[in-house]
Amino acid sequence: MTAEQPLTADLFEVDKRLSLKPVVDFNTYLLNAFGDGACRCSRCLAGTGEEAGYAHAHSFVLEGQTVHRRFANTAGSDVLLVLKKAWLSYTKAELTTVGTLDMDTLRAFVEPELRKRLAPLLLASGLAREVEGQWLLQAQAGD
Ligand SMILES: [Zn+2]
Repeated sequence: MTAEQPLTADLFEVDKRLSLKPVVDFNTYLLNAFGDGACRCSRCLAGTGEEAGYAHAHSFVLEGQTVHRRFANTAGSDVLLVLKKAWLSYTKAELTTVGTLDMDTLRAFVEPELRKRLAPLLLASGLAREVEGQWLLQAQAGD
């Protein structure tokens, strides 16, 4: 849709909270959490991209574009750290780190073109899982 870009810009001008540094940082983090192309870690290369048996996916197809998760900075605890800062900054309330994650609130401070990265990152990092349409935060015990 060609009208998407100007609309996005308008929305971001309306809500000043979206220019708060922790919120901007979270969006940048989301952008950098994935690299272009399929995962080329030794395990994926050895398995020629076959991810059967993986607890968490390495490669993702987001709207037709293949990307891979950058492991070095996307453990569940890493994601939680930046998410908590952005959440506090945007909502003025601490993120509840157990139970249901309010995806509507989360999506509200994520740039529209980055929203498709949320679910893959939450799942791949093990920070949350989706159960019957609800996102449940999971206790972080390493990755
Ligand atoms: Zn891999």
